[in-house]
Amino acid sequence: MFDDIVVFNWSTARGSGTDKNTFWVAHCNAQGSHAHCYQSGHAAISALQDLAKASLKNQTRLLIGADFALGAPSGLAAALTGQVDGLALWDWLLRIKAMPPLTGIKIAQTINRALADRRPFWSKGRLGQVLESTAPQAAFAPIRQTAQIQNNLGRASKPFWRVDSLHSSACQSLVGITACAQMRASLGKDCSVWPFELATSAVVLLEVCCDGIAPDLRAAIALGKDGMPTRLSLMAQALWGLAQAGTLENLFVPNVPKDILVEEGWALGSDRSAILRAALPATHLPPRLRNDVFAMPQGVTWIPVDEALARLKAVLTPVTTTHELPTAKAFGRVLAQDCLARRSNPPMPNSAVDGYAFRHQTDLMQGVVRLPLAMGRAAAGQPFVGQVPAGYALRILTGAILPDSIDTVVLEEDCVIDGASVTFDGPVKPHANTRKAGEDVVQGATALPRGHKLRSPDLALLSSLGIAKVTVYRPLRVGILSTGDEIIPRPDLPALPHQIYDANRPMLLALAQNWDFEVVDLGHHLDQPAKIKRALDRAAAKVDVILTSGGASAGDEDHVSRLLAQKGALSSWRIAMKPGRPLALALWNGVPVMGLPGNPVAALVCALVFGRPALSLLAGGAWISPQGFDLPAAFTKTKKAGRREYLRARVNEAGEIEVFASEGSGRISGLSWADGLVELPDGAVDITLGDKVRYCPYSSFDLT
Ligand code: AMP
Ligand code: MG
Repeated sequence: MFDDIVVFNWSTARGSGTDKNTFWVAHCNAQGSHAHCYQSGHAAISALQDLAKASLKNQTRLLIGADFALGAPSGLAAALTGQVDGLALWDWLLRIKAMPPLTGIKIAQTINRALADRRPFWSKGRLGQVLESTAPQAAFAPIRQTAQIQNNLGRASKPFWRVDSLHSSACQSLVGITACAQMRASLGKDCSVWPFELATSAVVLLEVCCDGIAPDLRAAIALGKDGMPTRLSLMAQALWGLAQAGTLENLFVPNVPKDILVEEGWALGSDRSAILRAALPATHLPPRLRNDVFAMPQGVTWIPVDEALARLKAVLTPVTTTHELPTAKAFGRVLAQDCLARRSNPPMPNSAVDGYAFRHQTDLMQGVVRLPLAMGRAAAGQPFVGQVPAGYALRILTGAILPDSIDTVVLEEDCVIDGASVTFDGPVKPHANTRKAGEDVVQGATALPRGHKLRSPDLALLSSLGIAKVTVYRPLRVGILSTGDEIIPRPDLPALPHQIYDANRPMLLALAQNWDFEVVDLGHHLDQPAKIKRALDRAAAKVDVILTSGGASAGDEDHVSRLLAQKGALSSWRIAMKPGRPLALALWNGVPVMGLPGNPVAALVCALVFGRPALSLLAGGAWISPQGFDLPAAFTKTKKAGRREYLRARVNEAGEIEVFASEGSGRISGLSWADGLVELPDGAVDITLGDKVRYCPYSSFDLT
């Protein structure tokens, strides 16, 4: 259907994410995909015009997608021209006589002058001086506030007419349309503008909405290696993929009222984002988990903690995409590729001390040794050039490269100097006080493996090995949501006696932040299936994993588990542990959901024991277990076999483990009283004073 697809933008500094005025053109054809950058809109348009002329000459077809609106909200074209036709606005704009360069503001001013009784464009800011400073009230009705496409993209709150800066989308569109109108005029009948005209000519110009292609795709807002906004090339590649598959035509029948199409136009495929998304190159899509990842074999009733952990470890895989970062900016990120040393550490053999360097000769290094001193010295950053004569010693400082043929250093403190020679007691071992090249890391060796989370010393290691860039996973976006009719979302709101404040959400948000994830507060929702469903739908579009608390059991009011069971491939894991009730694991629109118990004590323990290692795997990291210590108990307890128990605990001054006075799972104060958890094994135990128990400090769960 099309032999070439180009997508271009008309954004300046802000929109493109770069600090220059850049006009990008993404081009896809059978030869591959290419990016071009122009410093002016005029240059970009004339390049497109050349492409169009080449297409006509070669009798091929070209689709040009503009990443800005090619129409204004309904009513403008009619008000200016008397015609309900988007192209009438184009013709009107083509006839504007103003001094070049034609800016969006100048055009908006011209339109305000032409519609003197309405003056639709306004601004609250500085631009209010040349436009209107408030939104017009009267006689505005025939012109809509926003275009249908804005509403569809969830941008109905900002009127098209409000111009906050020269970069506002209305300004970009007005200039962009004017430039496109010139191109259209020069190409004549060979160019059609969809949907105002049929898309049957050789060159088809239409609007695309690159932001809308996949609002949950982080790649879409990033800049590519070439500096090009990735969303432009993604859109071009998706359209090209559909053109190749012969299914692009399906997008040309949008589900939009005809009167909107003829006046406002439409962005191709913006009502069919699933189709566009499916055509995206796979590397830009976050990997998904299989729908049955959390399934349990039939007949399993109670699962021991270790088995539940082993299952999570076996089935979870990273769900975020990767990108390249400068090493210095990668603190806290997880490596997506092994880091190979670009040079050895140390790169050259050097001295480990300040002293005197010479070539070792076994037979001469016994008893008192006296060596004549060579001229010069070797220091760090100031290598000795030349040869140290055989049998001579050279002054050397820590970190200095060993000169040719020199292999041994004697410590300054062990020497006597008389100006011309150095004297010390043998024997001295060959290679004493020196460091071999690559003795730490050899060039080409794996310095750090994929899955490693970068801590501060790791930045030292990578930098020392000349590794300037690393490929890392994007931070896992963790959404936190709580449910319950009794819950009041914020402690500054009034609460009736039957109501309680949301304790879990602030706790889990802070915890996920502790773990270096990107946290998204998904708020609190009443126990109403429709509300929870909507919350999950929205959440799944913007996070990589959802943690819920409350409503995850199997009771009458446990709507989260009911919904997940209906639509989310729910698997309720009944884990043999206290505190804790079933852990609800599910996938909502492909996004993993972990349903924690509502009870704050159980919610925290489950988050620490299961949430932390599971999220680490989803983020591309390693499986992590807390580092526990065996310490004497300052308490007694008898526990039956059959489940693992976690007690709120801390170390007393005698170095023994105390536990919180109550095991009541509603006692939030115990969580604050404690500095960690005691883990009692699955089997029966009878703990008397002084018995060793396993203590895992909060810090071993990265809880601070
Ligand atoms: P549920 O799992 O919804 O049955 O809740 C179990 C218990 O935890 C109930 O007593 C709830 O009131 C309490 N709970 C649920 N969610 C929260 C929350 N976000 N903050 C504090 N308590 C909660
Ligand atoms: Mg509840």
